[in-house]
Amino acid sequence: MDTPVGDRLRRAITATRRAELGALLVTPSADLRYLTGYDAPAFERLTCLILRPGADPVLLVPELERPRAAASPAGEQIELAGWPDGEDPYAVLAGMVPKQGAVAVSDTTWAVHLLGFQRAVPAATWRAGSPVVSTLRVRKDAQELELLSRAARGADEAFRRVTALRMDGLREEEVAEALDSLLREQGHETVEFTIVASGPNGASPHHEPGARSIRAGEEVVMDFGGTVRGYCSDITRTVVVERPPRGFSQVYDVVREAQEAAFQAVRPGVPAEDVDAAAREVIAMAGYADRFLHRTGHGIGLDVHEQPYIVAGNRRPLEPGMCFSIEPGIYLEGRFGVRIEDIVTVGETGAQRLNRASRDLETVD
Ligand code: ZN
Ligand code: ZN
Ligand code: ZN
Repeated sequence: MDTPVGDRLRRAITATRRAELGALLVTPSADLRYLTGYDAPAFERLTCLILRPGADPVLLVPELERPRAAASPAGEQIELAGWPDGEDPYAVLAGMVPKQGAVAVSDTTWAVHLLGFQRAVPAATWRAGSPVVSTLRVRKDAQELELLSRAARGADEAFRRVTALRMDGLREEEVAEALDSLLREQGHETVEFTIVASGPNGASPHHEPGARSIRAGEEVVMDFGGTVRGYCSDITRTVVVERPPRGFSQVYDVVREAQEAAFQAVRPGVPAEDVDAAAREVIAMAGYADRFLHRTGHGIGLDVHEQPYIVAGNRRPLEPGMCFSIEPGIYLEGRFGVRIEDIVTVGETGAQRLNRASRDLETVD
């Protein structure tokens, strides 16, 4: 894979200058993988990419990890600086960061590292890195779109195959295990989550699948995903076993219509919150406003949840190449739940679905 890493680093340095930052510090995370191709573990020994306007990038690594960093795509294009065990890495870093002014830190930097930075550069002001890095990550390039589509197609196929199971009498955890194997068969190298919620459990959006046996006449909400070459899948479908519970079909149709309304609302320039409002309006009109318990969606890429968030208050205009979920739901406590989720991408004129699994209500045995 030839990663356009050099280009990403250059653009990140430009974004750092535009944000009037003295430096951007990136510790092991999806940000670091995106910018350098280096998949470093996050732990107590400091690894940190240092980006500064007008200077070459430096990757500060524990000396014992230098060979590993050098062998990664980062090794070819970034100057490596090693710090040996027993030395203070924050003091080394302080020599490379302006003494004052604003410095941004990647969002997932461990607190212990940020505290070390603050001790070593006490006059700097500290900011979150996501407003800078997300200006790059939020628009997917052709290669990223290809990997996200591949992940989505794998999840679609896992769903198609799981509906062949006889679910009546199976435990939720057995269906979750089946989804795990199916995702791996479909080219996923990791499985990040397999929510299987049946009957009243369907009313809990993030239900942990357990020993409950699924019965005929119940719904099963399945929300699952993992990664294909680092890029995430995330799909939800709700099926019924033999027949729908009482009142279910009407609620299902409302969620399906809300999902479609949000999909139709997607266009470049439209504020993210308008997509949320489009789904919410359909659900409110049907009388379930207070039963739609979460935002409509989240961006997806190297992280399963990233910008843009499809939520009230997010005025950020949609741009071509953005990818996010559209996943409205209705949750009726003590009865059942329905959620339908697809990953979509913003095209020049509207949205395209990366997930192609049918949204018709499916009946399984
Ligand atoms: Zn969720
Ligand atoms: Zn999901
Ligand atoms: Zn999701």
